[in-house]
Amino acid sequence: MKLGYNEASCKKRSDVWADLTLCEKYGYDYIELRLDMLKEFLKKHPLSELQAFFAGSRLRPYALNSIENINFNVSIKWDLLLDLFKFACETAQAIGCPYIVVVPTRGTEANTRDEKQVLDDSVKVLTELADIARPYGVKLAFEPIGDRRYCCTGIRQALEIVNAVGRDDVGLTVDSFTFYLQDKAANLDVLKRIPGDKLFIYHLADCEDLPLGVLDHSHRLFPGDGCIPLKAITDAVRATGYDGIASLELFRPEYWDMDPEEIIRVGADKCRAILG
Ligand code: ZN
Repeated sequence: MKLGYNEASCKKRSDVWADLTLCEKYGYDYIELRLDMLKEFLKKHPLSELQAFFAGSRLRPYALNSIENINFNVSIKWDLLLDLFKFACETAQAIGCPYIVVVPTRGTEANTRDEKQVLDDSVKVLTELADIARPYGVKLAFEPIGDRRYCCTGIRQALEIVNAVGRDDVGLTVDSFTFYLQDKAANLDVLKRIPGDKLFIYHLADCEDLPLGVLDHSHRLFPGDGCIPLKAITDAVRATGYDGIASLELFRPEYWDMDPEEIIRVGADKCRAILG
């Protein structure tokens, strides 16, 4: 697998330009850019500066993160979501970025909708978004989150959705942390059953050994520093035939306060130790 970096990891003290420069310095192959950070960057820089960076670097863009709460939107929210999504498609096309990460809707309480409702709505919205993205040459990577407030919490459910959509430009993101968040990675076989051509992105993070229901993104740790069976998960991801990126994705406030260079340097070493 190739080494990737997701801008969530240092989003508080870094910016797009610093992330690009540091990722190149520490030998990352790919970067996943955040849409909020991209918008900040584009307030002060023309898009051509980003294009020029990638033209002169071995670092490549891999995905834009993320379009969230895609399900069950009322029209005003849907219009806002579409505005952001079209911005993502245009930017992705301009810099040669192949994927956009899309995330199911999170409620304030545990999701109570049944799976059929979630499947039907997800097929509808993913198809609509993929129809918009297709002329831009961009694919959608649907990322289930194993927190019960999300309407799609696991890989089995997400794969059923992606299979029901049935198109080659809609696939999955597997995130070692959000996978662990569902059932502490009790079922690795579900990963092995993903067809290789349906797995688009692999996010890599470890976490603290806390009970489900307490554990959340703020407890993410560098790969190898926590309790997630990352080598076994990575092996299961490889067993699908996937050979894309393993992308460091940390949302830990303590890391956000640290020097971005330290996070990006240490993160590269920690990811490489897991990937072998
Ligand atoms: Zn992720």
